[in-house]
Amino acid sequence: MIRRAVVTGVAFVTLALAPPASAQQRQTPAQLQQSIADLRAAEGRIQAIGWKLATANAPFCAAARPAIGLVLMDAGAWPQPDKVRTALKLSGPIAAQAVPPGSPAAMAELKPGAEIVSIAGQAIADLPAPRSPDWKRLAGLHDRIDAALASAGTVEIAWRTAQGQDKRASIAGVPACPSRFEVLSDSDRALADGTRVIIGRNFAGFGYAEEEFAAALAHELAHNILEHRLWLGTNGRNQNNIRMTEREADRMMPWLMANAGYPADAARRFMARWGPVHAGGIFRVRTHDGWDERAGFIAAELPRIAASQARGGQANWLRDFARDTHPAADAPASAPVAGSAEGAGVSR
Ligand SMILES: [Zn+2]
Repeated sequence: MIRRAVVTGVAFVTLALAPPASAQQRQTPAQLQQSIADLRAAEGRIQAIGWKLATANAPFCAAARPAIGLVLMDAGAWPQPDKVRTALKLSGPIAAQAVPPGSPAAMAELKPGAEIVSIAGQAIADLPAPRSPDWKRLAGLHDRIDAALASAGTVEIAWRTAQGQDKRASIAGVPACPSRFEVLSDSDRALADGTRVIIGRNFAGFGYAEEEFAAALAHELAHNILEHRLWLGTNGRNQNNIRMTEREADRMMPWLMANAGYPADAARRFMARWGPVHAGGIFRVRTHDGWDERAGFIAAELPRIAASQARGGQANWLRDFARDTHPAADAPASAPVAGSAEGAGVSR
């Protein structure tokens, strides 16, 4: 994970997508509306980047599965659901929170703020209300979308536009690497838990240009794609092993970015900007290399990426990226025929 160096200990944790702090309970309606809008803007930003990374790299992701890009919000996950619904002019609890540009949901003209009426035959009005603020219902609805896509390749969604129009569409998925991207309020960290990439609302990268912020998301996505959580579980979560996974995620960043249309060099620039402020000096921890070394490892990947692209157009990391944590399974000798992502040995 990319983290504030003062944070030590837990390498991977499970965190729920939390609503804003309990302070919101004292907010005026206008303040609540503003904090919802802020969270939606942050969510829109990371979903747009995450969508590019996850779909552009799908040809090389062993577990790629269909996705439509729709990210929901649940008023029932907030401490005062009724106030949230009123602020958002919703009659029910579920709305579209983010719809990445270019995604199938966006092509169906489903827009952020639209009220969701039903998902794959499940009427939202029939869902039991959670007894207390609860993120599980939201996760369950995202699971429902994924399950429909996995079995049929499409998912039927009914929604009401902000202008009060009722719409319904059967939306076909496109392949994406399977991580979900989430914003966590009241945190300045970025982390990966195996299935999710979680970015704190106060993470410094939010202040950077998109291509440098994308580097932080690419680093976390790399942890999930490279199955670092599993690997550390098997091989031990000691300092050396954690440092090895961090280095490998750093080296993977520019590969993922290159496929998503970002300059691969932005990964090095991100580290050079973020590192001196957040990961250096007396706070340096032994689980991570120094930021200058991290930038160096990233820079060393750039000619390898260029060579991979020269062979087949894309940065084929499945074939051409040298693994540290799974060296045997990914040795070039067992690599598939050049240029064929489909034929790739996705056996790790
Ligand atoms: Zn990391």
